[in-house]
Parts: sequence; structure tokens; C-alpha cells
Amino acid sequence: MTLKAPLWAAWADSGRGPSRDIGPTLPLSPPPPLPGEGEMVKIRERMVETQLKARDITDKAVLTAMSRTPRHWFVDEAMASGAYADNPLPIGQGQTISQPYIVAYMTQALELTNQDRVLEIGSGCGYHSAILALLAGSVFAVELLPGLFDKGRANIKKLGLTNVFQKHGDGSLGWPEMAPFTAMVVAAYGSRTPHRLLEQLAPGGRLILPLGQADCQDLVLFRKAKSGQVSSRALLPCRFVPLVGG
Ligand code: SAH
Repeated sequence: MTLKAPLWAAWADSGRGPSRDIGPTLPLSPPPPLPGEGEMVKIRERMVETQLKARDITDKAVLTAMSRTPRHWFVDEAMASGAYADNPLPIGQGQTISQPYIVAYMTQALELTNQDRVLEIGSGCGYHSAILALLAGSVFAVELLPGLFDKGRANIKKLGLTNVFQKHGDGSLGWPEMAPFTAMVVAAYGSRTPHRLLEQLAPGGRLILPLGQADCQDLVLFRKAKSGQVSSRALLPCRFVPLVGG
């Protein structure tokens, strides 16, 4: 498959491609480059160098997905110039798109391959859905707020990604009809062990989410062993919006 547009150019180019297979459904008809896109590509590369590689993001496939996904498409035009800054950004309705580093960190912790079936809860504007879709086989994205759900759906369509399945509803319940999932990511914090989600996690699966209180949370990685036994590990202090109903 040959991809023509610079944004989605073949992953294998000049040895800079990912360390392993990337999701199977890169768009066949890439979106046309927008005016000023070249400048945005440079700013995005700088973001990858200074915010991700300079910290502890080492997974080549994750770095590639972050360097190919146009984050500025996911925020209001007025904020496009700040889309690659080292901070979260408002996406409307009191919600935020996470800082690039946090998106990369959570994604890296999931160790995705194109065999993975990912449940994403709190998909908002769809930015993290797009990153996950480039690495996993399929992404099942749930968003509670109708306005953001519509935004996320439009953004995923614009990118031409065909392996993202989006649902409007309460993700704290998971998505039982589509379970089991091999990986899960939650972009809003809860205060308790997410038993309902863990029930929908396949043996061998990973789940990352913020756990704690409004002003003090940790990103926690749960693993379900082949035996079904669950273990967890706190990885990083963080600050997310609350999971409604969680
Ligand atoms: N990762 C998103 C932004 C996350 S902000 C992005 O890339 O844009 C957290 C999101 O979680 C918000 O959009 C909020 O509406 C959503 N949310 C909160 N509680 C939820 C619930 N119970 N089910 C689904 N989504 C929820």
C-alpha cells in the first residue's frame, strides 16, 4: 500500500518506521494537506523530540503515531498554534485534551500491537482514539457528552480511520456487548478499583487509568494474568477530570 500525503506517508520510510507492525487500517485516501501544514509538521516533530523522547517515551511505534497525528485538527482553530504545547488544552464543555506526554505515556504503557482490541473511555475530541487506532487492531471509544461525541466522530472520519468504533454513553459501565478487550484506557479519574472494567478485560490484558481524588491522582496500570489474577502498579502522579458515574 502506498500512501501519498505527507501526514500518512508510509511508516517504513528510511528506517524511521515503527519497531513492530502498526494497525492494519491506515487510510487509503489520506486527507488533503491543509494550508500551513508543513509548519505544523515541524512543530509536531519538535514536540516529539523535546516532550516525548527527552523524557521516557522510547517505543518507536508510539513516537511515530504521535509524530503523524495532526493534534491541531482536534482543537478550535483559534488554539491551533498552541496545540503542540506541553500542556492540556480545552476542548469545550469543561473538558480537556490531555498533554501530549500523558497521551504517549498511557499508550506506551499498554504495549499495543495490531492484535489488540482497545476500549477507550472518555474519548472526547478523538485525539487519543486516533493514536490508539494507528497501533491497535481496533478501538472501541465511549464518550458521555453528546457535543464531544459528535466532535470525536467528525475528527475520526476526517482522518479516514476505519478501525475506530464510537459510542455515545456512560463508559464507566464498559462496553459489555463488545467485550472482552485486550487493553483499556480511561481518560477521566475514578476513586475505586474499576471492577466492572476488569471483568471485561481479557486474560493477558492491560488497563491504565487515573485513580485518586480531585487534587491527587496516580496513573495506575492493571494487568490481568493468563490465570485471571489481577495486579496493579501506580506509575505516575497526574491530574484528570472526573469520570462521571465512576
Ligand atoms: N482523551 C480525550 C479527552 C479526555 S477528557 C481526547 O483525546 O480528547 C475526559 C473525557 O471523559 C471527557 O470528554 C468527558 O466527557 C469524558 N467522560 C467523563 N465521564 C465519562 C463516562 N462515564 N463515560 C464516558 N466518557 C466520560
